[in-house]
Amino acid sequence: MNSLRIFDELESEVRSYCRSFPTVFTQASGYRLRDDKNKEYIDFFSGAGALNYGHNPPQIKAKLIEYLARDGIVHSLDMATEAKKEFLKQFNEVILKPRKMEYKIMFTGPTGTNAVESALKLARKVTGRDSIMCFTNAFHGMTMGSLSITGNAKKRQGAGIPLGNAVFMPYDGYLGENVDTVDYIRKYLDDSSSGVSLPAAIILETLQGEGGLNVACFEWLRRIEALCQEKDILLIVDDIQAGCGRTGTFFSFEPAGISPDIVCLSKSISGYGLPMAITLIKPEFDIWSAGEHNGTFRGHNLAFISAIESMNYWKEDTLSEQVGNMEKDIRKFLVDVVKKHPEIKGEVRGRGFMQGIACGVDGLAEKICSTAFNRGLIMETSGARDEVVKIMPPLTIDGAGLQEGLNILKNSIEDIKVQSYINSKRKNTSTQKCLRASG
Ligand SMILES: *Cc1c(COP(=O)(O)O)cnc(C)c1O
Repeated sequence: MNSLRIFDELESEVRSYCRSFPTVFTQASGYRLRDDKNKEYIDFFSGAGALNYGHNPPQIKAKLIEYLARDGIVHSLDMATEAKKEFLKQFNEVILKPRKMEYKIMFTGPTGTNAVESALKLARKVTGRDSIMCFTNAFHGMTMGSLSITGNAKKRQGAGIPLGNAVFMPYDGYLGENVDTVDYIRKYLDDSSSGVSLPAAIILETLQGEGGLNVACFEWLRRIEALCQEKDILLIVDDIQAGCGRTGTFFSFEPAGISPDIVCLSKSISGYGLPMAITLIKPEFDIWSAGEHNGTFRGHNLAFISAIESMNYWKEDTLSEQVGNMEKDIRKFLVDVVKKHPEIKGEVRGRGFMQGIACGVDGLAEKICSTAFNRGLIMETSGARDEVVKIMPPLTIDGAGLQEGLNILKNSIEDIKVQSYINSKRKNTSTQKCLRASG
């Protein structure tokens, strides 16, 4: 019997990942998952970045079990709890202080999009302005405010109402290598007749996780920051996917040396895949009144317990260095694959443990991911047309696991025999055309 039947029958049509990875998962540990047929998979997906330390890391799991066993408080809205106290201390000591960062920590609802909503609200409140400047191919979440600053037309359509108070500008590289899009944006802001009013904030991802692994160069980020300072615009970095070590440093913007006014974190902040999100706010902008952005699950104690333990990875540079080294191995592997297979018209993109291949052949990236899935590798696509094969292993993966996964990727590309795939697609579209003509 098809073990997915119950999902087809009962679960909403909105389900998505269970369509891309059509099996029933039962167990997971580190970078390996297992399904109900006892088949093993290597995880190059990491819960879209929510599992940076892998599945069920033992030292974090032990803390959770211990906390539950002693009846530690689990739910408390945003009351003061011991777990929250320890999290605040640990985050300040391990993450903020060593980086000479000063932020107030806001607990939002436990999803990334809620952190983004809170950032937008606050920027509007601080500046008294309505609009938010955002970028082509941006992804910030699926609630109304976050959708209004998300580029993808299909996702935006889901809103069912006009999405406003957002101005899209070209991301770094969007207009080609030789166009500095900061100059372009500045032109609009300098000209009181451009039709673009001064925004409350500019929100950006340093590397666009869902929008196709486009990378902003550090100089571009610094120039955006300078523009914000000059024009009194708040700078918000959505580090929900690229943060928590995904690019090698805890915050993805560290190597650029910028200091955003607001930072959104979620996905791997709990370190265990438990839902949690925070918004970091420069103290001078923390002008919320009590309860102005509220929610039942703001700061979940189990997520605090796992987050506290996961911060221990950042007391030393070992993990950062490992990501830095393996980043180069991934790069080299992908560049070689693209060279060896010119027929995929590939371009290597991304940085850190967030890299991939943009394929110049329609539908090919999805085909590669589904072939890889059958061979025991979990990967997703990214980009406006799902044209990018995206590689996001847990940061804690070992060299052998990384190699095994990359080999499956390579073998999957070879399996597909891209040229015959292209030919068969061509044949299909021409038959469709004939049918349409005769109908
Ligand atoms: C995933 C993601 C979000 C939304 O987080 P949810 O938890 O899905 O609401 C927002 N911004 C970025 C960059 C993301 O990758």
